[in-house]
Amino acid sequence: MSSDENARPRVPTVGGDPREGVDVDEPSGKTWFRDLDEAVIEADRCIQCGTCVAACPSDSIGIDEIEERPTLVSMCTGCSRCWDFCPRSGLRYERLADIESADRPADVGRTVAARAHSDATAAAGQDGGAVTALLGELLDAGEIDAALVATESDDQPLKGEAYLATSRADLREAAGSSYNQTMQLGRLHELLDEADLDDPDVAVVGTPCVIEGAAALERYELRDEASPIALRIALMCTRNFEYDRLRSILVDHGVDLEAVDGLDVTEGDLIATDADGEVLLEESVDAFDTAGLDGCAECADFVGETADISVGNVGSPDEYTTVVVRSERGADAWATGSDGLETLPLDETESLDRLADWNERRARDGLPREFDREGALSIAYREHREAYDGTDCEPEPLNPARVYQYEEWC
Ligand SMILES: Cc1cc2nc3c(=O)[nH]c(=O)nc-3n(C[C@H](O)[C@H](O)[C@H](O)COP(=O)(O)OP(=O)(O)OC[C@H]3O[C@@H](n4cnc5c(N)ncnc54)[C@H](O)[C@@H]3O)c2cc1C
Ligand code: SF4
Ligand code: SF4
Repeated sequence: MSSDENARPRVPTVGGDPREGVDVDEPSGKTWFRDLDEAVIEADRCIQCGTCVAACPSDSIGIDEIEERPTLVSMCTGCSRCWDFCPRSGLRYERLADIESADRPADVGRTVAARAHSDATAAAGQDGGAVTALLGELLDAGEIDAALVATESDDQPLKGEAYLATSRADLREAAGSSYNQTMQLGRLHELLDEADLDDPDVAVVGTPCVIEGAAALERYELRDEASPIALRIALMCTRNFEYDRLRSILVDHGVDLEAVDGLDVTEGDLIATDADGEVLLEESVDAFDTAGLDGCAECADFVGETADISVGNVGSPDEYTTVVVRSERGADAWATGSDGLETLPLDETESLDRLADWNERRARDGLPREFDREGALSIAYREHREAYDGTDCEPEPLNPARVYQYEEWC
C-alpha cells in the first residue's frame, strides 16, 4: 500500500466537527471523536463506561439517552483525549493495571468473605451486602461524601442508571446488581453538580472497565480541578448486557419484568426472582448471548485489577461477598469500614484464579490487537486500525499537545 493510501481519510465528517465540509488533510498526531465513533461506537465495541465523556476537556461529548452511548454535542477540537482514555481503543488497559500494581506495596493484598452485620442490608445486597455496608461506614466516618453506584430506573424495569448515593438510605435503595452499563463516568460531573457538594470525595463502584477508566482519569486528569474520585471498587465481571436486548429475551422467556425483584448470574445460569425469593426464571446464561456487549469479549479484567477493592461472589459461601483488598487506599477504607461487616478467612482462592485465567484466555482470543502488559500505555489510532482493519499504516507522530504521552503513556 502506498503512503498516500495510508494517510488518514479526508473529510466528510460528522456534525460539530470543525473540518465539516472542508476538504483538507488532517494535521498529524490528532485523533478526533469521529475516529473513536467509527472504531468503537459504530463498530458496536463500546462498553458504555462513559470515560470518553469524562475525559473530554471541552465537554464536546454527551450521552445519547436512547442508545446509551457517547455522541458529539459540540465542536470536537481533536485533542485526542477521548481516544487516549477509552479502554476499547487508545488505552491499553492491561498496561494500566501493570502500572497501578507496581505502585502497590506487596503486603497490602488480602482476600476475605464478608457479609453486612445488618440483616436488612445483607438481604438487600446482591451477595452479602458487603459493598453497601462498607460504603455506609465510610459515609458515616466522613471518609467519602458520596458513592457513584447504579439504581433501578423509575420507568424501565431492571434498567440500572448511574446514581450518586449520599446517605445510607440511598445506598440501601441502590443495593444489588444491575446487568447493564450506565455510562457512569460520563454522568459523574452532572450528578455532582446536582448534589451541590463542595469538593467531594467520591467512591466509584462499577464493572472493571469503568474502574479502568476511573483509574486513568485519576492518574492522568488534566483538568484544573482535582479528581473527586477517592476510592475505586470493582464488581468482578465476565460480561454485561445491552438493556433493550436483555429485556426482550427475558420477555420472550415469558418473564413479567415488573414482577422481577432480583437478577443474578451465577454458575452459568441467569436467575430471576420475585420479591418473595420465588424463582421466575432459571436459564443458561448462554441463552442471553445475543444480549451481551460485544466489547466484553476483549476484556481480560475479571477481577478489576485497577481497583482499590474488588468484590464478587466467586469462592465465597452463599450470602457472602468475596472481597479483595488491592491497594493502600483500599486497605485504609477496609480498616475504617469493615466494622459494619462480619468476615470469614478465604484461604482458597482457586476458583477466583480459575475464572480470572479463563477470562484472560477469552480476551487474548477475542482481542484483534496484541494483549501486552508491558506494551505502551497509549495505542495510536493508526496502530489500532492496523490491528482491527488490517490496514497497513505508517507510524503516527506524537502530538506535543498530548503531553501525558511523554510519561508512562508512551
Ligand atoms: C454486570 C455484573 C456482572 C457480575 N459478574 C460477576 C461474576 O461473574 N462473578 C462474580 O463473582 N461477581 C460478579 N458480579 C459482582 C456481584 O454481582 C456483586 O456485585 C458483588 O459480589 C457485590 O455484592 P454485594 O452484595 O457486596 O454488593 P451490594 O451490597 O449489593 O452493592 C453493590 C453495589 O454495586 C452497585 N452496582 C450494581 N450494579 C452496578 C453496575 N452495573 N454499575 C455500577 N454500579 C453497580 C450497586 O448500586 C451497589 O451500590 C457482577 C456484577 C455485575 C454488576
Ligand atoms: S470510553 Fe467507554 S463509553 Fe467511550 S467509546 Fe470507549 S468504551 Fe465507549
Ligand atoms: S466484561 Fe469487562 S468490558 Fe464487559 S462489562 Fe465486564 S468489565 Fe466491562
